[in-house]
Amino acid sequence: MRVGTDANCLFCKIIAGEVPGDVVHRDDRLVAFRDISPKAPLHVLIAPRDHQPNAAASATADPTIVGELVASAAVIAEREGYGAYNLLFNTGAEAGQTIFHTHLHLLAGGITALPV
Ligand code: IMP
Repeated sequence: MRVGTDANCLFCKIIAGEVPGDVVHRDDRLVAFRDISPKAPLHVLIAPRDHQPNAAASATADPTIVGELVASAAVIAEREGYGAYNLLFNTGAEAGQTIFHTHLHLLAGGITALPV
């Protein structure tokens, strides 16, 4: 599958290594990095390499990718020592989405505020 990028997208730049990120996992499909403003002791963003504006668009463009994000979240949470966690996709500015590159919020250890 051709992986699209957007030269103006912050998360595309983090994925490409052009902007620093606290990366906890990377593979040929997705990159996971710690949120710069964490809302829980563990707050990781898991983003597909392919640039799409939100989770629904990613699911349409690449039907298996959303499941891969969720499966990756489980592996990262376990590796970080958490057996329970919350997952969130913000979709649309009115719902609090600020970065329009699909990302799954993985939160664990006690949410202090919703990341919206
Ligand atoms: P959204 O509101 O669902 O779009 O989430 C965007 C998230 O990206 C927010 O939780 C921000 O704190 C986070 N964020 C913004 N800039 C950076 C960065 O440079 N590195 C890591 N996380 C970031």
